Amino acid sequence: MNNIPADKNTAPRRRMVVLGGGESGTGAAILAKDKGMDVWLSDYGQIAPQYRQLLDREGIAWEDGGHSMERILAADEVVKSPGIPDSAPVMQAILAKGIPVISEIEFAGRYTDAKMVCITGSNGKTTTTLLTYHILRDAGLNVGLAGNVGKSLALQVARDPHDIYVIELSSFQLDNMYDFKANIAVILNITPDHLDRYDYKMQNYVNAKFRILQNLTNDDAFIYWNDDPVIAAQLKNISTEASLYPFSETPEEGDAAYVDAEAQMIINTSGTSLSMPRADLSLHGLHNLYNSMAAGISACLLNIRRDDIRRALSDFDGVEHRLEPVATIDGVRWINDSKATNVNSCWYALESMTAPTVLILGGKDKGNDYSEILPLVQQKVKAIVAMGKDNSKIMEYFDGKVPALVDTHSLAEAVAACRSLAADGDTVLLSPCCASFDLFSSYEDRGRKFKAEVLALKSNDNSQQTNK
Ligand code: ADP
Repeated sequence: MNNIPADKNTAPRRRMVVLGGGESGTGAAILAKDKGMDVWLSDYGQIAPQYRQLLDREGIAWEDGGHSMERILAADEVVKSPGIPDSAPVMQAILAKGIPVISEIEFAGRYTDAKMVCITGSNGKTTTTLLTYHILRDAGLNVGLAGNVGKSLALQVARDPHDIYVIELSSFQLDNMYDFKANIAVILNITPDHLDRYDYKMQNYVNAKFRILQNLTNDDAFIYWNDDPVIAAQLKNISTEASLYPFSETPEEGDAAYVDAEAQMIINTSGTSLSMPRADLSLHGLHNLYNSMAAGISACLLNIRRDDIRRALSDFDGVEHRLEPVATIDGVRWINDSKATNVNSCWYALESMTAPTVLILGGKDKGNDYSEILPLVQQKVKAIVAMGKDNSKIMEYFDGKVPALVDTHSLAEAVAACRSLAADGDTVLLSPCCASFDLFSSYEDRGRKFKAEVLALKSNDNSQQTNK
């Protein structure tokens, strides 16, 4: 029998195919190349110039504008961008051939021992991730930001490694994670979203979110909102070795964070305990109390000094397009919450309003049920300005339910309508409940154009004043 060991240099290199040439795919390709794999990247759409240049500089072969199936199906393993659904023909072929498919985070996790703080939820992921990162970085930790925000985890692991990462995880990323292990896992909330990717079954989506708990041991922590009925129901059906750190606004048994009768936010963990006035939190609104609690518990578990946590929770600048103050013009506050692309996030925006509000709603409807926000609308909203190509659903639903309802089909029209409807002391809130794709290219585009239009009002005002 021939028992000669394979020559290292002639052994076939692992063939890694990366699908999608965005931030995560490009990073995964670079890490794969650094690890000596035979890597090839394929994107059905167009790869942005900065990523093409990076791939070329790294000497990584790529294609865009289509998929060369033969080459893809020769892969030993595929790293898939979270944006590609399993129903895509390329994925159907890969799955039929039984080629393992992983996410970029799963792949990167194989090559680092860094501590992982992982954050998921239907709403509030980006805010909580950035806030947690802000606390840890300002406390002097060598921390990286990854996932849906920041740089690709794989790229950082390859070229700029950190001791700890704060990672925003969508359900799509979690779908292709198997052995990856968080040290601190956060689920902020679970409400129906993206059900088209989950066979329209809520339980499939819940299961995807709960993948964040897989592989946790009794050294790890699970932080979650205690009042979320979906999380509570799922916790009855699963078990985890991790220590539990629930939070809620009013204290409940076992809560690691809550607000006491003196309006102090209290956090108690095995690492650090602290209290601070709720009013000192830089992010306002009930939803942001939850986000601050989740970030604060994570920081306490990592033994960050109390003063550092308090300071960072009170000087965080907020995140663009999330309840972002734009300007106050003639006593009217204008707020950009363009990221509120579903009814639930608009609910939280309205909940935090303290003045009579003119609300801009509309865009591409995702099967919205506006009855969820109706009580808050009736309590706080003096006018609704519908802004979209087709506003019929909003116009029909709110007809007779608000003092004023205006139908507009462009941003300029909508802002002009708000200006005439809002009086000194009022707030104009763009929190549209809908995707932006009818009039804009993205929620960021919608938010930026909204801010520009509002700021133009301000400069018109100034020029009129100086002309007088
Ligand atoms: P995500 O990254 O999960 O989409 P963001 O932090 O970008 O979340 O916030 C999106 C919108 O969701 C914000 O405009 C805000 O109105 C709302 N939101 C933020 N945090 C929460 C929360 N904890 N619960 C419910 N809604 C929230």
